[in-house]
Amino acid sequence: MDAGAKIYIAGHNGLAGSAIKQKMEENGYNNLIFRTSSELDLRVQKDVDSFFKEENPEYVIIAAARVGGINANNSFPADFISDNLKIQTNVIDAAYRNGISKLLFLGSTCIYPRECPQPIKEEYFLTGPLEETNQWYAVAKIAGIKLCQAYRRQYGFNAVAVMPTNLYGPNDNFDLKTSHVLPALIRKFHEAKVDDRPEVTVWGSGKPRREFLYIEDFANVILFLLKHYDDEEIINVGVGEDITIADLASLIADVIGYKGSITYDPGMPDGTPRKLTDVSKLHSLGWQAGTSLRDGISKTYNWYQTNL
Ligand code: GDP
Repeated sequence: MDAGAKIYIAGHNGLAGSAIKQKMEENGYNNLIFRTSSELDLRVQKDVDSFFKEENPEYVIIAAARVGGINANNSFPADFISDNLKIQTNVIDAAYRNGISKLLFLGSTCIYPRECPQPIKEEYFLTGPLEETNQWYAVAKIAGIKLCQAYRRQYGFNAVAVMPTNLYGPNDNFDLKTSHVLPALIRKFHEAKVDDRPEVTVWGSGKPRREFLYIEDFANVILFLLKHYDDEEIINVGVGEDITIADLASLIADVIGYKGSITYDPGMPDGTPRKLTDVSKLHSLGWQAGTSLRDGISKTYNWYQTNL
């Protein structure tokens, strides 16, 4: 992949896409192309087709998706399944028809069965029932993986599907209704500290375990996989360590310097009990995450204070 290769990053304004864009620019890639969602609605097939004919990129990264935390998934199931199915189908098909060299599709670890053994190996894909709260998103992402595999088998199209664990960092969504847990807790603890409130409420029991990958590490690994991974099999992208939501809340409170108490709201769903990726495949290729969770939270909090 030379520095002048024309690379289309779909979803360049989101958490994942913006970090990939920045990392590529830092690494000297100078022919990146983007469209905002108002310039190009990826759910509209004819517009996606025209865009690919006009721009004819050589590489495509699909970081565009309708995403959100446990409450957003539960509240907008139709949008989550329908938008994601359309976006990925339109982009993968147009990319293949326009003869691009390689496509990288971003999935998610929620594609794995709710009760699968931990840590989660890639081979557990499609071996059991899904978690209910994010099944809509998961089914769309599963279809995206299968699209990549099907186009590879039938047409020899080099499409790879990467399964990142929960991502966090600058540019995340900090909206308390639709965000994921980590940015939500940064905001909750920050506001409680500023307003001198005695307690912060965390959803659910605090017992579920989640794994978090800092977005800059994620952008690094995407660049690495674009260069070094060309297989039909999906590949996990994570750190290989997880933490309970209760411990995450204490860690965030500590980084922010919040001294009040933490309470739990059992009326909100816990979701999957545990989601820890097995990253041996990624490690065997020679890549490992470098940012500790405390450092990542601290950098994200600095960004939050400056930007929001
Ligand atoms: P998930 O990984 O798909 O379950 O998505 P989330 O990141 O939204 O939630 C992860 C876990 O954090 C769930 O058990 C939530 O109930 C819990 N959680 C605790 N407080 C919050 C909060 O304020 N916002 C969100 N989104 N999740 C929270």
